[in-house]
Amino acid sequence: MSAPSSAVRASLLALQADRLLAAATARSAGAALAPGRVRELYLELTHRCGLACPVCDHPELARRGGGELSAAALVERLSGSRFLDLDLVALGGGEPALSEGLVPLATFFRKTWPRVRLVLLSHLADTELLLRRLGELRAAGAGPLALGGSLDGTEATHDRMRARAGAYRALVATARRVRAEHPETALSLTFTVTPENCGELSAARRLAVSEFGADFSAQLVLPFPGRPAVRWTPERLAVLEREVDLVLESLEAESGAFEALSAGREPARPELWRELIYWTRLRAYARAPARFLPDCSAGRLFAMVDPEGGVYLCPARKEVRLGSLAEDSFDALWTSSKAEAARRAASSDGCHCWVRCVAVSALDRLFAGGAR
Ligand code: SF4
Ligand code: SF4
Repeated sequence: MSAPSSAVRASLLALQADRLLAAATARSAGAALAPGRVRELYLELTHRCGLACPVCDHPELARRGGGELSAAALVERLSGSRFLDLDLVALGGGEPALSEGLVPLATFFRKTWPRVRLVLLSHLADTELLLRRLGELRAAGAGPLALGGSLDGTEATHDRMRARAGAYRALVATARRVRAEHPETALSLTFTVTPENCGELSAARRLAVSEFGADFSAQLVLPFPGRPAVRWTPERLAVLEREVDLVLESLEAESGAFEALSAGREPARPELWRELIYWTRLRAYARAPARFLPDCSAGRLFAMVDPEGGVYLCPARKEVRLGSLAEDSFDALWTSSKAEAARRAASSDGCHCWVRCVAVSALDRLFAGGAR
C-alpha cells in the first residue's frame, strides 16, 4: 500500500486534534474558572501609527484625538491591583514605539511582575524608531521582549494592505537589524486574513519562516464599529480553505507527528494540537461564525485597555467598555456590576469570535488539562 499523501496525513492529524479537543473539553466541563486573576493584559499605548491600513480604525481615532492616558496615570491605576497577576503583557496600538509611555510602562511591568512575558506589537516599518526604542528598553532593564508584527502577503500585497509602498522592504530591514542587534528578541509575524489577500496565506508563511526566521500566525480581520462587516464570497472562502489546507500540510511535514503517531509515540510538540485546531477553526469561522470553545478567558484571565484608559473584556467586543482608568482604578472597574454582566454575556453561546490571542490561550489551557 502506498504511503498516504501529505494532504491525507494532515487531515488525519487534524482529526486527531479534534478528538483530543473533545476529550479535553469533556474533562474540563464544570471546572469553574476562578474569577478575577488576570494573567494576560493587552494594552494599546496610542492610536498614532504612521501607517493607515484600510482595515484599521486607529488612524481615524488618532485624527479625532482625545485624551490618551499618560504612562504615570496608567501606572497609578494599575499599581497595587489585587486582580492583576500577569504572565503576559502585549504592548500595542497604533504603533507603540511612537508612545513616550512605552519605556516607563514596560519597565513598570517588568519590575512589578519580574517573570512577565512582554510582547511589543509593532508594524516594524520604522526601523530607526523601533531600534532606538529597543535600545532604550534594554538600557532600562525592561527586556527581554518578544516582537510581534504583521506580514500580510508577498511584497506587493503586503504594501497594498499596509497602504504604503516600501512597507515590505522596511519590514525586511527591521527584521535583519533586530536579529543582528537584539538577537535575544524573538520575532513573530501575523497575517491579517481578508478576502483580498487570503490567497497568499501559505506563501506568507513560507516567507515568515525562511526569510524572517519568525513564527507565523494569522487572524481574521476584526470588524470595528462604523465599518461594514467583511463579506466572504463562496469563491474567496474556497481560496482561504485551500490555503489553510496548505498550512496544515506544512505543520504536518515540519512536525513529524504523523510518523510519531503511526509508531505509537506521542508527537514531541504539544502545541501542534493547538495549532491544528486554531487553523481549522479559523477557516470554519470565516465560513460560519459560531462559538467553538466552551469558554474564553475574556474578562477573567484576559483584559484589554485602550489608549484613553478604557477597559474591555477582549479586542473583539470593543462596544462593551467597562469604564475608564482615567476615572477609576483597575480593581474598581473589574469588580463593577457592569463587569459582572459583561462576563455573564461572554459566557453565553451568543458571544463568539476567533481571535488568536484569546483562542490560543483557551486552547493551551484545555490541552494542558487545566480549567476552561
Ligand atoms: S499598522 Fe497596525 S495600527 Fe497601524 S494602521 Fe495598520 S493595522 Fe492599524
Ligand atoms: S467569545 Fe466573546 S468575550 Fe470571549 S473573546 Fe470572543 S468576543 Fe470576546
